[in-house]
Amino acid sequence: MEREMQAYQCTQCGELHHPLHYVCRKCGGRDFKEVPLRGEAALLTWTKVYNLPEGYMRPSLGFCIVEFENGLRVAGQLEVDRPIFGMKVRAVVDVVREGVGEDYYGFIFKPAQE
Ligand SMILES: [Zn+2]
Repeated sequence: MEREMQAYQCTQCGELHHPLHYVCRKCGGRDFKEVPLRGEAALLTWTKVYNLPEGYMRPSLGFCIVEFENGLRVAGQLEVDRPIFGMKVRAVVDVVREGVGEDYYGFIFKPAQE
């Protein structure tokens, strides 16, 4: 099943949020519409984390913040061997953490060209 993440756009001023806020951080509006969040993004910052909490089935993980073409900044996992500042990455939605009876979905960012 193809999963998709949503961004939440303020209906008053158009500001995009992810995850959903109760109040628009720009204008204070409380009404949002969902906008699909997909496609390419630019890598802004990243880090590698060891000693992960329970539920991560691997020894280490990359985490990053990217900026989508619509200007929205989102955090997620990074699966890139040699990250370069500003490089194009592709957003995939997949299980990021395996939980008991429930898996957690989130963004995983991979190289835009493979
Ligand atoms: Zn707003």
